[in-house]
Formats: sequence, structure tokens, C-alpha cells
Amino acid sequence: MADGGVSDRHSITAEAELRLLAAYCTDVIARVGADMTFSYISPSAKRMFRRPVSEIVGHPVREFVCPEDLPIIAAATARLVAGEVDSSTVTVRAVRGDGTLVWVEVTSRPIGDYALGQPGDRAVVIRDVTERKALEDQLTAMATKDGLTGLANRRSFDETLAREWRRTVRETAQMSLLLLDLDHFKGFNDAYGHLVGDDCLRAVAAALQGLTLGPDDFIARYGGEEIAIILARADAQRAVTVAGRARAAIEALALPHEATSVLGKVVTASIGAATAVVRTGGSAGMPHALLAAADRALYQAKAGGRNRVETALLLASPD
Ligand code: GH3
Ligand code: MG
Ligand code: MG
Repeated sequence: MADGGVSDRHSITAEAELRLLAAYCTDVIARVGADMTFSYISPSAKRMFRRPVSEIVGHPVREFVCPEDLPIIAAATARLVAGEVDSSTVTVRAVRGDGTLVWVEVTSRPIGDYALGQPGDRAVVIRDVTERKALEDQLTAMATKDGLTGLANRRSFDETLAREWRRTVRETAQMSLLLLDLDHFKGFNDAYGHLVGDDCLRAVAAALQGLTLGPDDFIARYGGEEIAIILARADAQRAVTVAGRARAAIEALALPHEATSVLGKVVTASIGAATAVVRTGGSAGMPHALLAAADRALYQAKAGGRNRVETALLLASPD
């Protein structure tokens, strides 16, 4: 009897073996014709797409792909048909029978030979990559967000600043940058402890996120207790208005700060607000000059007694 299973297995025909694998394999195997319809799909499609196989075979591929991702499929198909590649892998969202979406990785390979002018069907393997996609999204968020405050991190700040600067030069327009530094924060940590200091930073970040800024404006943790706000296309007037609101929002948190020199003994911030205007004859180049100007204004705000906004203007070169 012990041998029974083995000899049974040996007696299965190759075709039956393939059927078994196609049914139990987690991946889905399909055949897609030149007309982009499914001529075969393995039974495992039922589980992945939450629809009976009969609802898929004979239907066009596009019925099962999120409309936004159709151009990805079209581009991959064009490259295959042109013979540029001999197999292609794309990641798209498939639409399941219940209307939900599933991230799938689709690898296609022509069955005929396009290079010889004999295009045929495509052999396609479809794999559920929802978990991998979620992990990738999480990693991307971690790479661009600051872990303590949830604001954008320094790296994405640098990228955004460079991008905004290029746009400002291209449009011969203006932009502003606010640099904000908490007042006597070393003393705050000394008085209440570093953990309370961290909570304070989170509260300040939340207050700043509560300011309704424009869709292209950008808040980032610039350094320890320094926060930077990029104000896209903002002139000096808007910069000073937003800086004033940011300063007031932090003061309004009314977080006690016994070690501050600021009257009222609450947590406050000093802000340097710099505006760059692109004009012929201007000489400032690179976002570096804007950062330096905001930093100088911040220093003046500190020297002037803290909990205040100081401004700076620079004329940037259009080339
Ligand atoms: P000033 O008003 O001149 O800015 O005085 P300051 O004490 O705030 O001076 P400075 O800005 O140079 O000091 C920054 C301090 O912020 C040093 C450090 O103890 C604190 N700090 C920086 N990052 C963090 C952080 O992630 N958590 C906490 N709790 N404290 C931080
Ligand atoms: Mg500082
Ligand atoms: Mg400080």
C-alpha cells in the first residue's frame, strides 16, 4: 500500500499533472491572444480574481485591469510586439469580481516569434504581490518621512527645495522659505526631560500641519528642533503672513516652558522668512542662497528677543 501513492502518481499523465499544478499553484497562468483576450486561464484565477474562470476566458484583458494602469499594459505589449524585449514584467492593479483591487505582477512572453514576423499568443504568469507592494509603500514612506514628527524628512526637503527653485527660475517668479527654530529648547529638555521634549516637537509639528497651506507648500523637519516650510510661488507678503500664523499657532499651544526668556513662559519659535525673486540683474543662485538668507533672518529673530519673525529678500539670477 505504501507504494500505491507513488505508482499512482507515476501513472498520472503529463497533462493531468499540469492540470493539477495549474489548479493548486498560487500563481495564475494564462494565454492571451493578439486581440488581447484571454483564451486560457488556470483554475487558480478563481481565488486571485474572485470570479469564475468562465467569466474570464473569452474576455478582453482590459476588463480586469484598473483603468489607470491600462497604459502600463499597452506600453509593455507594444515593446513585446516590436520585438524590443523577449519578455516583459509589469506591476498593475487587477479588478476582482467583488470590485476590490489586487496588486499583481504580470510577466508575458510571446509564444510565437515576433522577431521572425510570426507573432502569436502570449504566455502570461500573474502573481499576487499585494503584500510586497504594501511593504514597498511602507519603505518609501519611511524614506521620506521623519520618524518622530511624521513631517517630511530632510532628504525630501532637499529634493523639494531644489525642484521648487528650478520651477521658480523657469517661471521667472518668486518663492519663499520659512526656517523655524524653537526657543531655548535645550533648556526645555533640561527642565522637563528629553521625552517630554519629543512630545513637544510632535505637538508643534501637528500645530503646523493644522495651518491650511497651499497644495504645493511643504513642511519638513529640517534638523533637531528646526522646521522648514517651503511656500511655493509665495511673495514676501504671503511669507510674512504664514510665518506669523505659524508663530501664533505654536504660542497658542500654551505649553509651559519655565526655562525660556520669552514673556509668558510658554514654548515659542523664532522664524526667518526669506523670499527669492527672480529678476534680470539678480545674482543669487542655487537654493543654497535662499537657505542662507532664511538662516540669517532666523538669527536676527533670535537676537531680537525670540518668538518673532524676521524677513530677508534676495534677487535671484534667471540663469
Ligand atoms: P535658541 O533659542 O537659541 O534656539 O536655544 P536652543 O536651546 O533651542 O538652542 P539650539 O536651537 O541650538 O538647541 C537645540 C536643542 O534642541 C538641542 C537639543 O537638546 C534639542 N533637540 C534637538 N533635537 C531634539 C529631539 O529630537 N528631541 C528633543 N527632545 N530635543 C531635541
Ligand atoms: Mg536649533
Ligand atoms: Mg532652538
